[in-house]
Amino acid sequence: MPNSRRTPTARLDPRGPLVLDTRALPRRPGSARTVTRTVPAPADLHTGLAGIPEGSDLRLDVTLESVTEGVLATVTAMAPVTGECARCLEPVTQMIEVRCQELFSYEQGAGDADEDGYALDGDLLDLEPVLRDALVLALPLAPLCRQDCPGLCAECGALLAQAGSEHGHERAIDPRWAGLRQRMTQAEPAGRPAPEIREESGRGRP
Ligand SMILES: [Zn+2]
Ligand SMILES: [Zn+2]
Repeated sequence: MPNSRRTPTARLDPRGPLVLDTRALPRRPGSARTVTRTVPAPADLHTGLAGIPEGSDLRLDVTLESVTEGVLATVTAMAPVTGECARCLEPVTQMIEVRCQELFSYEQGAGDADEDGYALDGDLLDLEPVLRDALVLALPLAPLCRQDCPGLCAECGALLAQAGSEHGHERAIDPRWAGLRQRMTQAEPAGRPAPEIREESGRGRP
């Protein structure tokens, strides 16, 4: 089964948001033109904890350059990423910017088709597969709501950013010792030689 990009029956839709028409680019090596557009992000751009919401604004700056073998596309894309903080699980929103470059070869005979490369479909080229790879690779694997996010309390799951630095828990006490501990804490003040303390605090030194 030949690659769909090269199948005459599966021509690219020139109205596709990520399909660029290179007709205005002279087929003379060295010629270049730039295209800037904002398009809706395609679906399924996500990894475990982060993703680019489908339909959100994907801003593209594309330079198309004529080279001997075809058209070289250099793309800078900016997209919003939403996800969950890897430490505290609160929602995170940030922007990512990726830059990628890809050669779209002039259509060749089936025999010379380059398995890994991309080809022009007539005057059209499809940036989607190129951008998809670049954007997914750029997604943060462990997004953070802020660089110093303190995360969650390991004992009660409280958000430490909200609970404050004093948040903590008494070390759990074996119930068999709890009674003894209580008796000791009650006994302590009475057991101490109280007069000595009074003496110290009461005597002023010259
Ligand atoms: Zn966080
Ligand atoms: Zn806690």
